[in-house]
Amino acid sequence: MAKIIDGKAIAETIKQEVAEKTRLLKETKGVTPGLAFLLVGENPASQVYVRMKGKACEKVGFHSVTLEKAEDVAQDEVLDTISDWNRDPAIHGILVQLPLPSHIDENAVIEAIEPRKDVDGFHPVNMGKLLIGVPALRPCTPAGIQELLIRTNVELRGKHVVVVGRSNIVGKPIANMLLQKRPHANAIVTVCHTGAENISVYTRQADVLIAAMGRPEVITGAMLKPGCVVIDVGVNRVEDPSREKGYRLAGDVDFASAEPVASAITPVPGGVGPMTIAMLMQNTYQAAAWMAGNA
Ligand code: NAP
Repeated sequence: MAKIIDGKAIAETIKQEVAEKTRLLKETKGVTPGLAFLLVGENPASQVYVRMKGKACEKVGFHSVTLEKAEDVAQDEVLDTISDWNRDPAIHGILVQLPLPSHIDENAVIEAIEPRKDVDGFHPVNMGKLLIGVPALRPCTPAGIQELLIRTNVELRGKHVVVVGRSNIVGKPIANMLLQKRPHANAIVTVCHTGAENISVYTRQADVLIAAMGRPEVITGAMLKPGCVVIDVGVNRVEDPSREKGYRLAGDVDFASAEPVASAITPVPGGVGPMTIAMLMQNTYQAAAWMAGNA
């Protein structure tokens, strides 16, 4: 029986830690971390995410603002909003909820954010720092994955980590974080993608498998090395008429066949998902602390 890695509980602990550090920052420096959200259009999933992130801000004691813009907002208006927040001393973190409508250049928007306030960690300056291994604001989902591994006492040094997926928000950053020559990393990392003819050649070699493909239940127990640790990042909707909503959420890993083979595994939901918001809170606290002169 694999250990089920309880991302929900670990995320709660991290948020409590952030709340405590925030209380101290207020007391010692008079600084309340501030997080600004920009939501463009009416994408229901984006609306839910921003609402959840706003609630998390309240819980840890941050100040937060949400600005909503119409789907057809001009790119310049978005850039002006970011520029205002870049200059606002009460705002320490800026989050533009992605995806943006197609007429807006996402890269231009990300690059307009002051890197010290880029709490999503997507700015090229922060990505570059991640690559060369110096302190920076790190993308929340990969940072959450590393934190899950740390808090589950998974030794990574010299272990073979196989990442399936090479997106800029998950696959590439987590691969780069885990290959750094530093504690809680120093792994041998392989990255797979659709260019691989047969991904099971790689997944079977993994001591730690990180699945970030966005393909429901593609990785089965037969594709795993016995005793491996499985981190399932995927969040996929699978039709299920027996559910009220008509669908269920599934990971990229087939939990039923993988769980008996693995030594530890994250569930979906309740694994990586809750960690993303917890790390956003951690990043915003960190940005505020750095700006207040704290290490
Ligand atoms: P993405 O941008 O679509 O990237 C998917 C990656 O997986 C691509 O690199 C793709 O390869 C690779 N891939 C897809 N099918 C494959 C296959 N059959 N074999 C090998 N590689 C394959 O997705 P993403 O944004 O990284 O997200 C991945 C999943 O994580 C999604 O389900 C998403 O919802 C979830 N996610 C969850 C969180 C969270 O907070 N829990 C956060 C972010 C994302 P190519 O590059 O060759 O196309």
